[in-house]
Amino acid sequence: MQIDRLPALSDNYIFLLHDPTRQEAAVVDPADATPVLRRLEQLGAKLVAIFNTHHHHDHVGGNARLLQHFPAAIVYGGINDQGRIPGQTVSLQEGDHVTFGDRSAQVFFIPGHTKAHIAYYFPPVKPNDTGELFCGDTLFAGGCGRLFEGTPAQMIDSLSKLRQLPDNTRVWCAHEYTLKNLQFALTVDQQNPDLQHRLAIVEAARQRSEATVPSVLGVEKRTNPFLRWDDREIRAKVKASNDIQTFSRLRGMKDMF
Ligand code: ZN
Ligand code: FE
Repeated sequence: MQIDRLPALSDNYIFLLHDPTRQEAAVVDPADATPVLRRLEQLGAKLVAIFNTHHHHDHVGGNARLLQHFPAAIVYGGINDQGRIPGQTVSLQEGDHVTFGDRSAQVFFIPGHTKAHIAYYFPPVKPNDTGELFCGDTLFAGGCGRLFEGTPAQMIDSLSKLRQLPDNTRVWCAHEYTLKNLQFALTVDQQNPDLQHRLAIVEAARQRSEATVPSVLGVEKRTNPFLRWDDREIRAKVKASNDIQTFSRLRGMKDMF
C-alpha cells in the first residue's frame, strides 16, 4: 500500500492509498475532489473507497464529486455520523475492520473533537514495517483537535486508545498545524529536550515549506502535551491536580494561544 499526501484547502491533507497491483485507490478525508481526481488520473487507478474520520466539511467536501466519477466507491464513516457524511454507505464502530487491497484496518471510536469521530489503523504486515494511523482531527502532530462536541474526559479516553499503539506508528493527521502546536507545547513543557529538538526540526522544515505529516507516534508520546496529561511537570505547570483537569487546562490554554 502506497500513501500519497495531497495538500488541500489552506492547511488540510488528503491521503490517497494506492494498491498498484490492482490499480485501485482509496482516499482518507477528501476535503476537495480536484487534487484526488488529478492524482487518480496520473496513477491510472480507480477509486474504490472513501474513508471519512468525521463529518466536518474540510474532511468530506469532496465526497459528492468523487462519487459522481466513481459511483461504486464505498463511503465509510462513524455510526454516529449517519446523515452527516455525504454518501455514507457503511457505518463503523469501535472494533470494526475495513479492508483495502490486501490490507485491513482496525476502527477506533475516538469522540471528543466531534461526537462521532473515528480513526483507521492499519497494523504493520511484517515485523519491521510501520503501522499507519489515520486520525483526522483528534491527534495532531504536537497537538490535538478542539473539543467541539465532546468533553476532556472523552478526549483523554480517545487519545489513550491511540497512545497505546507502537512507537513507530506513523501518524497521518489531517492538518499542517505542527509548528504552532509545538510553539504552544514549549510554553507548558520548557525543559523537555525532546520537544526543544523537535521544534527546531519543524521550524527548519516549515521554512523550506516541507510537510511535517506524517509524524511518528513515539515522538508524539515524548513531546505532545495532549498525550501527556499524566506528566508531573506539565501538571504542575498548569496547576492541576488530576488527569481531566490537566487536559482541560491545556486545551483551554491552547484555544487562546
Ligand atoms: Zn474537524
Ligand atoms: Fe479539520
